[in-house]
Amino acid sequence: MSISVAATQSGTVRFEDDQVAELRTVFRGQVYAPGDPGYDEMRAVENLAIDCRPGLVIRCSGEADVIDGVRLARERGLLLAVRGGGHHVAGHGTVDGGLVLDLRDMNAVWVDPVNKSVRVQGGATWGQVDREAQVFGLAVPGGVVSTTGVGGLTLGGGIGWLHRKWGLACDNLLSAQVVLASGDLVTASADENADLFWALRGGGGNFGVAVDLTFTAREIGPSVALAVVFHEASAGRELMPKWRDLALRCGDEVTTRALYWSLPAAPDLPPPLQGKDVFIVAALYAGDQQEGQSTIEEFRGLGEPLFDMSEHLPHYRALQAGFDPLVTGHHSYWKSTYLDELNDETLEFIHSKAMSRPDPSVLIHVPIMGGATAAVPAEDTAFGDRSAPFMLSIDGNTYDPANYEAVRAWVQDTMAEAGRLQGAGGAYLNFSGDDATDETVLRQQYGGNLARLRAVKATYDPGNLFRINNNITPA
Ligand SMILES: Cc1cc2nc3c(=O)[nH]c(=O)nc-3n(C[C@H](O)[C@H](O)[C@H](O)COP(=O)(O)OP(=O)(O)OC[C@H]3O[C@@H](n4cnc5c(N)ncnc54)[C@H](O)[C@@H]3O)c2cc1C
Repeated sequence: MSISVAATQSGTVRFEDDQVAELRTVFRGQVYAPGDPGYDEMRAVENLAIDCRPGLVIRCSGEADVIDGVRLARERGLLLAVRGGGHHVAGHGTVDGGLVLDLRDMNAVWVDPVNKSVRVQGGATWGQVDREAQVFGLAVPGGVVSTTGVGGLTLGGGIGWLHRKWGLACDNLLSAQVVLASGDLVTASADENADLFWALRGGGGNFGVAVDLTFTAREIGPSVALAVVFHEASAGRELMPKWRDLALRCGDEVTTRALYWSLPAAPDLPPPLQGKDVFIVAALYAGDQQEGQSTIEEFRGLGEPLFDMSEHLPHYRALQAGFDPLVTGHHSYWKSTYLDELNDETLEFIHSKAMSRPDPSVLIHVPIMGGATAAVPAEDTAFGDRSAPFMLSIDGNTYDPANYEAVRAWVQDTMAEAGRLQGAGGAYLNFSGDDATDETVLRQQYGGNLARLRAVKATYDPGNLFRINNNITPA
């Protein structure tokens, strides 16, 4: 490609009309410049607090578009953002003034039911994977909604409903096809470019564009034993300790989480839940449904519920997509920490903060970790230490842009306090509203793996082309 585009020193660019016209002849996917119909839709990401105006967005149709897009950015010194599902709360799927390679049209999914694997293009969402895999009674451990991108969620780790049984999403990755900063397409697996494969499992989008990911698929569903039970938020004080004790007693088949939230007064919600402040106990048994039912009944019976939704979510896909409409349209700022213990003092802290949230859409989320996730040694994947049995995530969401700064400040203050709790430490970068670029934050996630990540970065992206992410600078 020989298109001459002048980049400013900061990597931002304004493409002239004739340059855009020429680029349209090169790329098979749609090319959007400021002012084009559809540009505003293309520049938006899930977090409405992010309002970037890229110089160009290319909806890549396949590997060729990705390769040429990467080369264009490198040769012209453009800031480059890679957009998978567009869900990173810090807005890493877009960039002001630079080039966005939007992978959303690269969403094919191929299931191999015999060998139990799933191959996914780099812009697919988990809902698209579930749609194809569940027909065969298979799933890849992903997240808890259907709209997140497989690319970003997996490269950053990936917790969901199956992580205690089968590990993080990245632990289920068998191989990836990656377009490097050089424009070369390489395979990363245990046998080929093993250092890159190690780095992809937790190191985020730092090393290239994963145009294709192949996973081990797991047998689960379509119907599953699950609990999704809504209580009055005030009941959380009494129920949280019971939930914790039960969660710690369960085997690895069970992944569970407790959440504080407020539901909108939406007519399509069951009447007892409309406009309610709630404490939610949710659990899934990743094994034989019959065998799991008695364990799941314990989660359903922790207290007198406002509403028990468990049987209204008849299969795995319904659970995965059931909450999608409630978690979109927000201005968001999130922060998280791991918890080595969930003692009574911590539970009281969480409950009291939950009762004073600055916006009804702020979600306090306590997932259990452990199980197969913790069985992987810290140095085996870039992700790092997995020893904490719980995580605390405060998902600062609001529908009201005017309340965003107050929510953000509250999340920051609350997490600063949470950092002083017994056993609190680290951060899950998939849930981080901050650009993690400084040593302290990166070390929180990667610990002793950071130096090796920097060395791998120096091998595969020495010029730090892929830097719109939780950026690992080259050694
Ligand atoms: C509503 C909601 C629910 C969530 N639920 C969960 C959950 O259950 N579990 C969990 O672990 N996380 C969850 N997350 C967090 C999620 O894992 C991160 O937001 C993740 O980054 C999303 O990936 P994405 O592809 O959608 O995002 P994007 O913003 O598109 O990308 C995030 C980062 O990954 C990079 N990237 C994306 N795709 C590729 C690719 N193919 N190749 C190279 N780099 C790529 C991007 O460049 C960017 O740096 C949730 C987030 C939201 C907003």
